[in-house]
Amino acid sequence: MKAMVLKEISPIEKGPLVMMDLPIPIPGPEEILVNISACGVCHTELDEIEGRIKPTLPIVLGHEIVGRVERSGSEVTKFKSGDRVGVAWIHSACGKCHFCYAGNENLCFGFQGTGCHANGGYAQYTVVKEDFAYPIPDRFSDTEAAPLLCAGAIGYRDLRLSGIKKGQTLGLFGFGASAHIVLQIADYWGCEVFVFTRSEEHRMLAKKLGATWAGGPEDEPPKKVHCTIDFTPVGETVPRALSVLEKGGRLVMAVIRKRNAVPSLDYAQHLWDEKEVKSVANITRKDVEEFLTLAAEIPMRPEIQEFTLAEANLALQELKERKIRGAKVLRIK
Ligand SMILES: [Zn+2]
Ligand SMILES: [Zn+2]
Repeated sequence: MKAMVLKEISPIEKGPLVMMDLPIPIPGPEEILVNISACGVCHTELDEIEGRIKPTLPIVLGHEIVGRVERSGSEVTKFKSGDRVGVAWIHSACGKCHFCYAGNENLCFGFQGTGCHANGGYAQYTVVKEDFAYPIPDRFSDTEAAPLLCAGAIGYRDLRLSGIKKGQTLGLFGFGASAHIVLQIADYWGCEVFVFTRSEEHRMLAKKLGATWAGGPEDEPPKKVHCTIDFTPVGETVPRALSVLEKGGRLVMAVIRKRNAVPSLDYAQHLWDEKEVKSVANITRKDVEEFLTLAAEIPMRPEIQEFTLAEANLALQELKERKIRGAKVLRIK
């Protein structure tokens, strides 16, 4: 099979993904072999390629996989050949630790990331345990469904962890792929959404998608918000996001790494009055399943920009340069 392989950590500008011929993987007893038709391109891949997150090398990246079941292991019962399935960031968890027992498999000591600890979707085929694959709602095409599996499902988790309730006000800092989706869900749930972003273009898009107010990160919103979600990779937004919070409000930090330190906080201004701060790590299967159902119900229409498998380096470079015209998806074959 054809696969784009990362052999060593390198700046994306050097085009580090190399097209290779690899053997088609053989599914284990509980695994399915997926013939991949689309794989989304995610910012996490840039972090892996450039070494901010450490993948197991060499690796086939990609964790927003859509394809059809081609072969099944002897113990597979949920899927049959030809079924359309998705694979997300959670490739496996141990199922035995106290985190797994409590439903927090995202925090499992044995958590394995797709395209990080196990080969992912920048290839014609992949294998995954049937318990970590999801049926894709008919409403979506293969390429539309791909970004729902990461940006969408993670955005849904961010929103869930924010504890937002119907009719409350939500603040979003930064307006990338996950924030787009969060805004649409919050709008569907009857919440008022304020978007804080430097980009004039993003502010206009946010208003088009249902935001009631959009401004810069330093601007004062019309009123305090009940929850904020911070999608930005910089530390400076944390005190800002805390200062626009209502008493008892919660800030959810939705990124894996911040590029620079969070500036010192003033206790009275930023934390007093029972404000909370929570980060988000990984994702559970429940998040993915619930989100796919919700996305079909709303329904969401993800904007897609397609690339070929061989153009993976280009897609990632454009992502780094923030040339974003919809979610970037590799169409495989
Ligand atoms: Zn991702
Ligand atoms: Zn576990």
